[in-house]
Amino acid sequence: MKNYGRTALSEFLSDRVVYRKLVPADPQLPGLDDLRSRLGIPDGGTPRKIEPDYARVIVAMLQAARRLDAPGSPIERLVYLGDTHMLDGTAFSNICQAGDWPGIAFIASESIKEPPALVEQGTFMLANRWALLADFERKCLEKGFPFDERTAVVIDLDKTAVGARGRNGQVIDNARVQAVEQTVAELLGTAFDPQAFRWVYDHLNQPRYHPFTADNQDYLAYICLMLISGLFDAHAMIAEVDAGRMVSFEQFIALVESRSTNIDPRLKSIHAEILANVQAGDPTPFKPFRSNEYHNTIGRFGCLPDDAPITELLSGEILITQEVRQAALKWRSQGSALFGLSDKPDEAALPDAKLAAAGYPALHQAITHSVGE
Ligand SMILES: [Mg+2]
Repeated sequence: MKNYGRTALSEFLSDRVVYRKLVPADPQLPGLDDLRSRLGIPDGGTPRKIEPDYARVIVAMLQAARRLDAPGSPIERLVYLGDTHMLDGTAFSNICQAGDWPGIAFIASESIKEPPALVEQGTFMLANRWALLADFERKCLEKGFPFDERTAVVIDLDKTAVGARGRNGQVIDNARVQAVEQTVAELLGTAFDPQAFRWVYDHLNQPRYHPFTADNQDYLAYICLMLISGLFDAHAMIAEVDAGRMVSFEQFIALVESRSTNIDPRLKSIHAEILANVQAGDPTPFKPFRSNEYHNTIGRFGCLPDDAPITELLSGEILITQEVRQAALKWRSQGSALFGLSDKPDEAALPDAKLAAAGYPALHQAITHSVGE
């Protein structure tokens, strides 16, 4: 593994990036709200990554980008780089279907304990090394997928282009967990008990609690806050969840509201704000948490010295995946249409107006080291 120096995702993606709200960073491209009527997507909700409407929006953005860059060369095929078979795989299949394009996806999760393997499964190639991207490229060419101007290359950002899964992904998670902890600690002040927080967070962050937390980190942060604030006995509440009597976040926040006179006075306004956001259908209702996540995430970009040992970079900094960067630069130079997708909430990936004026970057513009084989 080698350090290839400092750069940003925008080196190869420019502003051709969307975060969860489906508003492209490039203002020349249409966003979700511009596309709703043409695509028949009702006002209000934002399609999630695994939904067919998400794919239809991405296809419209890709086509608009291609019309700008290479008007005579419509997209005819799709290459997708990602790190999760389920989430990225579903998005990939949906985009192929929505665009009526043949496609090939590279899904990697590094596992250096196993011998390197690139396993072909239908239109997927599953790799246990990011460096197998070079073999993937060869296979694409063999299958008649040249990286020319008629190929769109969609690159997942989180744990693919940055924080490669199995190699550096833990640093992204650490930034988020630290943001939850910091938010809860700031709100509770002297009443904050770090050990109690850790226990509740680690316990409820397990996949078997996803039906209760909706696998939503805003919900989980709010639940942790209320459970360690003394409003409930945390063990008793988790027993209620285990017994199937507390089944959803909506049920939980309604229970908190029904006891609102007993809420810690320090938490009354944040409870009211989150409840109002949830009732308005906002999927990221805990704004101070996401703002802390932005700071903790951006703070881990390029935070270590250039001569830091590779092991320290891998465990302490969010890194660009050199193999992805190298392939992307090459494919872009051959004319392919590159586009980055991130499932991060916009509040955790973009600076607000004040921070932007102070020079804070968007996640895809943040400078960090690029590391790879
Ligand atoms: Mg990902």
